[in-house]
Amino acid sequence: MEKLKRAGIEVMWHGKKHNEGTHYCAQCEVEVFNMLFVTDNKKHLVYCQDCARKTSINLDGFIVLNQYTLEELTEVFNNFKLHTVSPRIVDTVLSQNSSQPVGMLPQGVSNLA
Ligand SMILES: [Zn+2]
Repeated sequence: MEKLKRAGIEVMWHGKKHNEGTHYCAQCEVEVFNMLFVTDNKKHLVYCQDCARKTSINLDGFIVLNQYTLEELTEVFNNFKLHTVSPRIVDTVLSQNSSQPVGMLPQGVSNLA
């Protein structure tokens, strides 16, 4: 984002409405998250950064919209971490199988160890 600012491209605050659907790139149909590159014409097509750059190297004719603050992104990241499997669960699985020869461990469990 700093790169865009240095290039003289203004990033406009857009925010995210609660009922706002997910945006997809009009070109490659990838999900566009946080940074929306919207064509500056009546169509207002949403592009991903890659396709916007391919269409216009200077992003001429695009409005860049920003949906999340850094605080919000950090919060999302922290929520992800809370849902990861804790090492304790892996230990329990391994100790349950400890009476079996290592070769008998189900695949996946041995990969975790
Ligand atoms: Zn795209």
